[in-house]
Amino acid sequence: MTAMEGAMPTNARYGRVLLKISGEALMGNREYGLDPEIVARVADEVHSVVGMGVEVCLVIGGGNIFRGVSGAATGMERATADYMGMLATVINALAMQSALERRGVQTRVQSAIPMASVCEPYIRRRAVRHMEKGRVVIFGAGTGNPFFTTDTAAALRASEMGCDALLKGTKVDGVYSADPNKDPSAQRFETLTHLEVLAKDLQVMDASAISLARENKIPILVFSIHTAGAFAEVMAGRGKFTIITEEG
Ligand code: UDP
Repeated sequence: MTAMEGAMPTNARYGRVLLKISGEALMGNREYGLDPEIVARVADEVHSVVGMGVEVCLVIGGGNIFRGVSGAATGMERATADYMGMLATVINALAMQSALERRGVQTRVQSAIPMASVCEPYIRRRAVRHMEKGRVVIFGAGTGNPFFTTDTAAALRASEMGCDALLKGTKVDGVYSADPNKDPSAQRFETLTHLEVLAKDLQVMDASAISLARENKIPILVFSIHTAGAFAEVMAGRGKFTIITEEG
């Protein structure tokens, strides 16, 4: 049974989705780490979408704690720095797990780098089963490989989980031709194709993530994670978002 054939919620457009948020989105106005209020707000967003009957899994970045490229810039071996970045994503995953469980949402963290005393290892079929049972699965440690990003991890896990859509929660309400906070003439797109995102080099997700989503025919919906209720609105097909779909 696919997610679409499962308990399809009446008011949601998608039965199973993956939400990707960057680590920086959880940082608020801080320069480093987690802002508990923002973590709580994002957990509220996820809680309300779970309440719509949607199966949700999450990939959270690690940029609020450590980024491989920054470590490499200080002379560290890139692969080692990337492993540190992956560990940072597990810290964020545990913070989100805690916030969701305080709201009564059942969760499991699965790490691509096995950490037996902290969380489950990533096992695809087990993750699917958790989702079918209504648990939110939070995928930590990215793809488990250096030289990749959590954007690519999000597209990979969305493909493996058979998600109907990949949601990218950002600081702004969609995809723009330039950063709208810096360039007032930036144009906002309502719809795009995966190929257009690649051809125009729009800074939505990295190219490997876009390509993977394209190959697996997964639409990407970009919306503001900081607007209260936006995740549920987008799932209901309302609110402001940019949708990236197949050509034709
Ligand atoms: N990372 C990695 N492989 C992966 C995912 C992440 O090596 O599959 C490392 C990489 O160093 C990256 C860091 O983890 O800089 C944090 O992830 P990312 O930069 O994607 O986080 P975000 O920008 O979304 O907060």
